Amino acid sequence: MSGIFGIYSDRSCIEDLIWGTSYLQHRGQKYCGWAVLSDGKMNYQSHAGKLREKFNFRDAERFSGNVGIGVVSSGDRQPVSELSKFGEFFLAVDGNVMTAKELKEDLLLQGHSFSGYYDPSYIPDNVLIGKILATHELLDGIKKLNEMINGDYSFVILTNEGIVATRGWGRKPLILGKSEGRYVVASESCSFPNLGIEIERDVNPGETILIDKSGFSTLQQLQIEHIQYGTFEWVYTANASSIIDGISVELFRNRVGAKLAERYPVEADVVSEIPNSGIGYAIGYANQSQIPHGRIFVKYDYADRSFTQGTKREQEMEAKRKLIPLSSIIRDKRVIITDDSIVRGTQTQQSHVPRLKERGAKEVHARIGCPLLMDKCGYGKATKKKEEILAVKMGFTSDDQVARHLGLNSIGFTKPEDLAEASEKPIETLCLSCWGL
Ligand code: SF4
Repeated sequence: MSGIFGIYSDRSCIEDLIWGTSYLQHRGQKYCGWAVLSDGKMNYQSHAGKLREKFNFRDAERFSGNVGIGVVSSGDRQPVSELSKFGEFFLAVDGNVMTAKELKEDLLLQGHSFSGYYDPSYIPDNVLIGKILATHELLDGIKKLNEMINGDYSFVILTNEGIVATRGWGRKPLILGKSEGRYVVASESCSFPNLGIEIERDVNPGETILIDKSGFSTLQQLQIEHIQYGTFEWVYTANASSIIDGISVELFRNRVGAKLAERYPVEADVVSEIPNSGIGYAIGYANQSQIPHGRIFVKYDYADRSFTQGTKREQEMEAKRKLIPLSSIIRDKRVIITDDSIVRGTQTQQSHVPRLKERGAKEVHARIGCPLLMDKCGYGKATKKKEEILAVKMGFTSDDQVARHLGLNSIGFTKPEDLAEASEKPIETLCLSCWGL
């Protein structure tokens, strides 16, 4: 998974580029990179680690230029570069190619080589996408990608003419914004407010946009038979301040929380959340049920998102380390906790429920912002291994089994139709495959 950003500006873009990309850091912390066009020459850097730790603003003059792209990634090093029929370009991708092995073999048969520093047994998806694009004229290459790729993507390309931004089937968000003299594209709109950028609109599934000194122009709109919006973006991935395909992420979570209160009422003293992505659900639940909302955990600010940590042990330790329980509030209370999802059970199972009970909680009820996860995501989210998913690993078929296993008094999962209602989208346009639907 990645966060991608691009800017065309009437002044030096480097500060906006770095800050704008850094607001997407929650989408990946393994690599970061940027490329800037200056006087017809492209300069770039990429590093392992987080963007703000790697970019030194004192060096900003080395990257002067008024057009650039930036990326943060949890997978592969980015951006990648290619020489092509339409000139040199740099590419940053948020996406996943499910048939990467077959695609690599096809490209080798067509005479392409993958030389350089890459491990030949593992060619990253962004390199494959770059190769396909480089083989054709730009728009033909994008059309070809759409035909050849099983997976999904959004990407930005830095060319000599400006930035080209493309969205695949809809699972990967991409949004346009502008202010006087600045035209911007980003994975999420949370990059915009603090830069003084206003939302223009989402890039449509199948659409390719050119961003240059004239602003935004649609170069191509492919017919997408089966639009699939990335439901998990609203559920968990996206920053609460983002607006994705017209729907505020925070409002989505509030609506789902309210629906959970209607579907699964229970007498309790406090509604709280597993911070941060559980907060919006807790507010919605509390408002609907009239049960007070309060904190029972304080998030330790220097902990990372647990899914981005390496080993399972590291993920469990990080999940535990990041929340400090408020014992004096928990004692003798009937507690409702909200969370975005149950994937491996890392958050609720390994530590939090037992910790609440140890601190004197009389009852602990969980309300979850999506259905029970049943499958891995094939489209580039962190859940790559089906056998790691709690319900799959344990063979659970009922909510009661999950509640017993996690030591909860009760559990309630959001229904798919409630996700559709909260997102104001027809259910058939929502990607629901990680729920086995
Ligand atoms: S399978 Fe789930 S996580 Fe993956 S793109 Fe679809 S909704 Fe998102």
